Amino acid sequence: MYGTEQVISGTIIAGPELEPIEGYICVNKGIITEVGEERTYSSNIIAPCFVNAHTHLGDSVFKDPPLGKISGFRNQRDLDSLVKPPDGLKHKILRETSYKTLIECMRSSLLDMIETGTCAFADFREGGVLGVAALNKALEGLKLYSMVLGRPAEPELPPQAVLDEVRRILLRCNGLGMSGTNDLDLELLEEIATCTRHSKKLFAVHAGEKDRSDIEKALSLEPDLLIHLTNATKRDLESVADAGIPIVVCPRSNFITGAGMAPIAEMLEAGIKVAAGTDNVMLNSVNMFSEMEFMSKIFSIEDRQVFKICTLNGSFIMGSDSTGSIKKGNKANVMILNGSSNNLTGIKNPISGITRRARPDDILSVLHS
Ligand SMILES: [Zn+2]
Repeated sequence: MYGTEQVISGTIIAGPELEPIEGYICVNKGIITEVGEERTYSSNIIAPCFVNAHTHLGDSVFKDPPLGKISGFRNQRDLDSLVKPPDGLKHKILRETSYKTLIECMRSSLLDMIETGTCAFADFREGGVLGVAALNKALEGLKLYSMVLGRPAEPELPPQAVLDEVRRILLRCNGLGMSGTNDLDLELLEEIATCTRHSKKLFAVHAGEKDRSDIEKALSLEPDLLIHLTNATKRDLESVADAGIPIVVCPRSNFITGAGMAPIAEMLEAGIKVAAGTDNVMLNSVNMFSEMEFMSKIFSIEDRQVFKICTLNGSFIMGSDSTGSIKKGNKANVMILNGSSNNLTGIKNPISGITRRARPDDILSVLHS
């Protein structure tokens, strides 16, 4: 609500360290103007909204392929047959989908993000200039921070034509999100990365998803952001840490594609900033509660760290210091959870409660600014 101050009481998951305190927050014109401690009888839990740091929203046109029926899906060749450009099943279906349907399906996923407590996302958008325009159209009027990373629609064209398209894409979005260094000629990728840097936009790339064969090549491109690194070795992670490149992990996606378990604890230990994403909408919903629950139960990482990976670390990657945590002066992107819902009542530790068991239906309201 603009122009009037709102005061919300409850247990606040406050500050960058996510410290639960009993008290209130004041919100005015979309900014948190005060965080105060006081005894409260409210069962509300006030938590920062999620940042979904890696999605492929175009996949919203193609949900839940019959994995069991794609023979041997859980191996590398069949991951390629599903998602590798240009002939993976997903890309064939995207080519056959009308522009209108694509926009409508992506819009539904964006609305689902808002309903499930996400305030910002970073998307790898296929389909070149038109693909980026479709997502920009789907975003119209929605209060979501977006980082749209496009890619050339026809990378097999002569390099000059590809680079021309790259320049046109860069005029319309935040940067480039390339599928991987094994999928394209490395020289062309180097030119694309240089072109992206000249435009002062972001260059991101998948690496180390099914094996580590593309990690060194990806690092040679000096990317701003790496996705996956599921099969990275300790030495790879040291190189990533030395280069100061953040990583977005996608645990549910890696599980379903059989890519393995990302060494998240080792990434954190190496000092790498780690965020998380739900990856392909084809494989997973955009619901970050599911990602948190999965991560907290499958990996040996503290719940607080999981929560940070899904909020504050994502906002760092999005280049926003003023969201991702609840503190004075930050933008009010918060969700109010019902601490006395049948699901959450009786939880002893709000951080563990939210990380391991909270669900979208525990949300009473979401403030986006
Ligand atoms: Zn991806």
